[in-house]
Amino acid sequence: MTIMSSWKRLNVGVVGGGIGGMSTAIALRRAGHEVTIYEKSDFAGEVGASVSCAANGTRWLHEWGVDVAKGDPVVLKKLINRDWRTGEPVSVYDLDDYEKRWGYVYNMFHRQYMHAMLKDSALGDEGEGPPAKLVVNHRCREIDLKASTITFENGVTAHHDLIVGADGIGSVVRGILGIKPEKRPSESSCLHANVDTEEAVRLGLVDYSQDSALEYWGGQEGKWDKIVLSPCNGGKLLSYYCFFPREQGDYSTQAWGTDSRPVEELLKPYPALDRQVFKHLSIGKEIQPWRLWVHDPYPYLHQANVCLLGDAGHPMMPHQSQGACMAIEDAAALGILFNKQYFNGDVAQTLVAYEQVRLPRVTRVQAAAAKAAYNINERIGFSVNKDTPTYKVEDPKKVLTIEEMNAYDMYRDIEEKLASIRGLSYTDKFVCGLPVGMELPNGVTIGATA
Ligand SMILES: Cc1cc2nc3c(=O)[nH]c(=O)nc-3n(C[C@H](O)[C@H](O)[C@H](O)COP(=O)(O)OP(=O)(O)OC[C@H]3O[C@@H](n4cnc5c(N)ncnc54)[C@H](O)[C@@H]3O)c2cc1C
Repeated sequence: MTIMSSWKRLNVGVVGGGIGGMSTAIALRRAGHEVTIYEKSDFAGEVGASVSCAANGTRWLHEWGVDVAKGDPVVLKKLINRDWRTGEPVSVYDLDDYEKRWGYVYNMFHRQYMHAMLKDSALGDEGEGPPAKLVVNHRCREIDLKASTITFENGVTAHHDLIVGADGIGSVVRGILGIKPEKRPSESSCLHANVDTEEAVRLGLVDYSQDSALEYWGGQEGKWDKIVLSPCNGGKLLSYYCFFPREQGDYSTQAWGTDSRPVEELLKPYPALDRQVFKHLSIGKEIQPWRLWVHDPYPYLHQANVCLLGDAGHPMMPHQSQGACMAIEDAAALGILFNKQYFNGDVAQTLVAYEQVRLPRVTRVQAAAAKAAYNINERIGFSVNKDTPTYKVEDPKKVLTIEEMNAYDMYRDIEEKLASIRGLSYTDKFVCGLPVGMELPNGVTIGATA
């Protein structure tokens, strides 16, 4: 590896200590930088629900040396789409050869465990680079873009060479960068419920944890009704996302973290739902609304020495299960761009490359997530199950595929973008991180002219 003689250690400020902020701290400490994470809360209110991490996210956890076992994941073996009324499988995507093909498994974590796992890796003494520092109860209020200084609501100010806005969907940093989101409440609402597997089994209900699968009821009919079941905590907990049309219950302005909603409210929209899963929902606990807003893609991701990352830069509908993975990929991109091989000391120029690498990919996933909200055939995996009797997609050539997500080589993408910015030639046979000539199952060949 050639080392950039102009590389220098940066003093980085990360606003927001969620999944994206912690991942950024891991990636940048490993690249040799000093990182301080500023979090508005004290983490007492972390959400009790699952979060999935496909191979394109998992690979970075391993590359960073994160102790993945601490997250107590369920390794997914299948994606199953079931008939709304009977529960019979309609479309199944087998993940048996997934690790063999992509080198990494498809993990399903519990958010609190995943967050703790990332936090340990960011702040711990083990691992490469200086451990990051975490400062809680610091809510960012203002950033002076010229001076690279953050002001917090408690009056504290801090100067940093690079500032990363990882402050989630309601990002303050985004507004400071001048981005005004075009957004609207989603047509569907979502209530989340947790079911204890042991309790379900004790009551004689189906033990869905045995399937080690991400399971969906409905979604084929172009309707908003859909149940998504993800097992986490080694299968001990079943995390249910229950979607229904917004006219049947509007939660677009209600935040997660208040008292549990009554179970009758959860069951009300589902008179015709498969009784097996319906009975699971009847013992659902911690029933919480998940506020869903559709954001159009933002025009840019950085200004001066400040950039956006994760939901702050590209909030997306949950229907591709890629929100956390995209935040992890953003962090990985910063970790590579600012490492000793690529960083030439010019922060603003490096953030131009960050934007060029990340914006096209996150925008594509964002659009695909919005489509999968009302058509499960658009969901990565099911998107190539063309034999499903009800298979119908908007444009077969545009569906997002597992191949596009997992064959992506971020190093090549970064080299291509840096070469163009720095006026160097790039001769590798890759386009935007995908190998020229690769045939995707949607019929597209990478590098071929349309
Ligand atoms: C219930 C639920 C289930 C989900 N399930 C999945 C899933 O299965 N798969 C998937 O890929 N994605 C899932 N997601 C989405 C995924 O969690 C997000 O895309 C991901 O967490 C983005 O990480 P982030 O760090 O950008 O934002 P967040 O994790 O939201 O973190 C933002 C952090 O910034 C802090 N903060 C906010 N404002 C400020 C401020 N002004 N100053 C300082 N700190 C601030 C917040 O307190 C928070 O800690 C789910 C989300 C939720 C809520």
